[in-house]
Amino acid sequence: MIQYRHCVTFLAPLHPAARPLGGLAAEVSPRRIHLSPPHLTGREAAALQAVLDSGWVAPAGPAIPAFEAAIGAVTGFTQVLATASGTAALHLAFRVLDIAPGDEVWAPGFTFVATIAPAVQMGAVPRFLDVDAGSWTLDPDLLRRELRAAARRGRLPRAVVAVDIYGQAAELDAILAACGHWGVPVVSDSAEGLGATIRGRHAGRGALLATLSFNGNKIVTAGGGGALASDDPVLIGRARHLASHAKDPAPHYQHSATGHAYGLSSLLAAVGRVQLADLAPRVAARRAIFARYAAGLADLPGLSFMPEAPWGMATRWLTALLVDPVRFGTDREALRESLDAAGVESRPVWKPLPLQPIFRDAPAAGGTVAEALFARGLCLPSGTGMEAGDQDRVITAIRDACRA
Ligand SMILES: *Cc1c(COP(=O)(O)O)cnc(C)c1O
Repeated sequence: MIQYRHCVTFLAPLHPAARPLGGLAAEVSPRRIHLSPPHLTGREAAALQAVLDSGWVAPAGPAIPAFEAAIGAVTGFTQVLATASGTAALHLAFRVLDIAPGDEVWAPGFTFVATIAPAVQMGAVPRFLDVDAGSWTLDPDLLRRELRAAARRGRLPRAVVAVDIYGQAAELDAILAACGHWGVPVVSDSAEGLGATIRGRHAGRGALLATLSFNGNKIVTAGGGGALASDDPVLIGRARHLASHAKDPAPHYQHSATGHAYGLSSLLAAVGRVQLADLAPRVAARRAIFARYAAGLADLPGLSFMPEAPWGMATRWLTALLVDPVRFGTDREALRESLDAAGVESRPVWKPLPLQPIFRDAPAAGGTVAEALFARGLCLPSGTGMEAGDQDRVITAIRDACRA
């Protein structure tokens, strides 16, 4: 989602001379500020060297169980499988739930496409539900009503995916209660929820299966990677089997099912483990960036920030705000363009999946909240490697756009 090429220099404050534009151009254009570039700790190289020295560079060896144990320690899940991406973890979740062609899988419409794409590729029919304006996550009241109507039709979903958004945990307890009534399993797409809490426990905890992402733009990164987590050893055992080509126990290659090459490289696992150790300070830093935006923009008319839901602590992975075009004086797109001209990357919040060309004909329930968020919502640079002076540039550019 973000371009590594830009980030490497952005993230190397020890080498200020090595800027992407170089020479004269560097003096004319200030360096570009990105949305959420990877933030390296400085300890990754030693961890990589240790794996190289050990010779275990494949998706096997001690770095992988060590990373899985670290993920378990942070989240509380007893069973963890490290995967090549968050999307791979979602695919494995749908595989172990035996999603079959024609099955319905429900998800909030306000999310990244990867939440549902693997299920659609398996032949599932997606149904998109609206989110709640107070949390921007799946609306449990709507879910309850829709489940009742689906039961009357005799066509309950095979799974519901709850999604943590921009570092805020979905209202999982209400979602689990609604789905539990009908025996529908819940998967938590917690790719954006790492480090967030719900009623004191980690986001996603309580779902039958939860997925995480260690992509370069997330709160901590392995340089790519993900995880599937659960408290059910049978489900994770099956996922582990499918993740490495579903090899049956035999001296020759034997398969009773087809699997995937979804294991995480030991090299990336080592990087992920180093990064994960910094999760708590990263959460504090993202929240501090949010607070600084809120303070620096508080007096401007027509801006409102993503609310923090009462049931937990959000990480503020990305600071997201809504722009009221009448009161602010310009709309979200014009603001985004003026930030772009000032060398600041910002991005509209998720375009609702029911509005995506591929899902035009998919069934949906509600959607006006997600559409209103998309019309006005903007994500601001929130990377923890961002210096205060960089954030001041973003704040100044927003203030200038308001005055203009
Ligand atoms: C990042 C993300 C994913 C996918 O994770 P990858 O590791 O990039 O495959 C899935 N869902 C959501 C909501 C995400 O933000």
